[in-house]
Amino acid sequence: MLSMMAIRMDLKIFPFLIALNCCFSLPVTAQDVSDLKLKDYRPVSIYKIPVTNIEKAKFPIVDFHSHDYPATDAALDEWVRNMDEVGIAKTIILSYSVGTSFDSVITKYARYKDRFEIWCGFDFRDCDKPGWEERAVNELVRCFKKGARGVGELGDKGLGEFYSYPGNASGFGLHIDDPRMKALIRKCGELKMPISIHVAEDAWMYEPADEKNDGLMNAATWKVDMSKPGILNHDQLVKTLENAVRDNPATTFIACHLANTCSDLGMIGRLFDLYPNLYADIAARYAELAPIPKFVHAFLEKYASRIVYGTDMGYEKSMYRTTFRILESNDEHFYEHDRFGYHWPLYGLGLSSGTLQKIYNGNSKKILAK
Ligand SMILES: [Zn+2]
Repeated sequence: MLSMMAIRMDLKIFPFLIALNCCFSLPVTAQDVSDLKLKDYRPVSIYKIPVTNIEKAKFPIVDFHSHDYPATDAALDEWVRNMDEVGIAKTIILSYSVGTSFDSVITKYARYKDRFEIWCGFDFRDCDKPGWEERAVNELVRCFKKGARGVGELGDKGLGEFYSYPGNASGFGLHIDDPRMKALIRKCGELKMPISIHVAEDAWMYEPADEKNDGLMNAATWKVDMSKPGILNHDQLVKTLENAVRDNPATTFIACHLANTCSDLGMIGRLFDLYPNLYADIAARYAELAPIPKFVHAFLEKYASRIVYGTDMGYEKSMYRTTFRILESNDEHFYEHDRFGYHWPLYGLGLSSGTLQKIYNGNSKKILAK
């Protein structure tokens, strides 16, 4: 927003700058600025204010939202070294997978059983054929016996469940509140397997990619195509989650990315108030939270017992440290253009020790199977 205003202002004073340029030599010519595109705008904070480098998190962390990133055993070893250095005690791999895909992920991480939990997906293969619900429950139980202690990441961006391996066997047409999902969700409750589920996308992805779009730096290329037949919109998708959470009180749900309600946190706050079996992770939504630090500080302090840490952004040390800076520090007006892609300046949330402790690992003790 600020950057767009700055560019518009530059364009407005363009003739004036040309006039000035006749008399003075400017370090950047007016012509250069008029050619500058919003996507190339990379402001550097001008403020001489404290910069906090947090090498290691204040408390040991359970990361509730990561994926099977390393391609080799050596890369996995590097990940564990990074976790040690920055203070990640345990990482949950949301594998999405079932069958042989799931088994191979289990095997890959077997050397680090105490550092990783592998969660499975739901098996959507042949979900349009008779007997699917029973087959899918049987596969869930098989994955549980192999070591799965949760399910995720389920994902519904409007057309139905679509994260599933092997074979990208999607459950299009199946939303989480579909009666055909009931047996699986109930079984998760019985087995004490939490369900980590991504519904919808952030609000700016539904808005026209124009001069008013506050997330335009990302929305220009990343948007939801609402013209697809039968696609649910943002609020309808959050409603499917609410229906499932309400109708399955014995099953724990974790809404990925705060159910993509960062621009209207009251939506998920209302669900927290109503349903004790709902939690949310803050994975990959740091840039959406950090522009409004006072509001988010109050929100996270209020709902600290319902929020869990997550990343969903690889395993670089600098990535973890950026999340710590946002959660722990009171730093102001800093940019992370390359990591998050927005034009928004970010602010530390300055969370209290009690809240950090709950988000980092306290709530995990309630959610994870003993
Ligand atoms: Zn994810």
